[in-house]
Amino acid sequence: MADDDCLFCRIAAGELPAEKLDEDEHTLSFMDINPWTRGHALVIPKEHARNIHDISDESLGRVMSAAKRLATRVRDNLGADGINLLNSAEPAAWQTVFHFHVHVIPRYEDDPLRLPGQPMQPEEGELAEVAAELRG
Ligand code: AMP
Ligand code: ZN
Repeated sequence: MADDDCLFCRIAAGELPAEKLDEDEHTLSFMDINPWTRGHALVIPKEHARNIHDISDESLGRVMSAAKRLATRVRDNLGADGINLLNSAEPAAWQTVFHFHVHVIPRYEDDPLRLPGQPMQPEEGELAEVAAELRG
């Protein structure tokens, strides 16, 4: 169901402008308005979903297929050396637009993009402990 207050629902409905790249019955791909690298784009389902917890498996599959199509063009048409796919859920993970989207971020050998994460050295037994929690 389209949400009148949702920016990406409004883009999907054609009520707000976007630099569209690819569209099918269920998905839309368009340029990110503030690109991290040359060609940074977003893929969304036309049907509203807040994030990974909310989107149906079927819709997620369609979005990932569209992301793959775009990834091929990023490599072949832009000559990117690599690609990051990024998805964020909730503000703690930097989600700022609450309509599910996958970032398709072209990467170039000499691009300036650096993700702020630092790999941690786990304490003794920590991986096994958290793995047990994840297994439930
Ligand atoms: P996130 O922080 O993962 O929720 O990503 C939201 C992304 O949407 C950001 O990279 C923004 O630059 C992008 N964005 C916000 N408004 C627009 C818009 N009107 N058209 C295209 N991209 C947008
Ligand atoms: Zn929406």
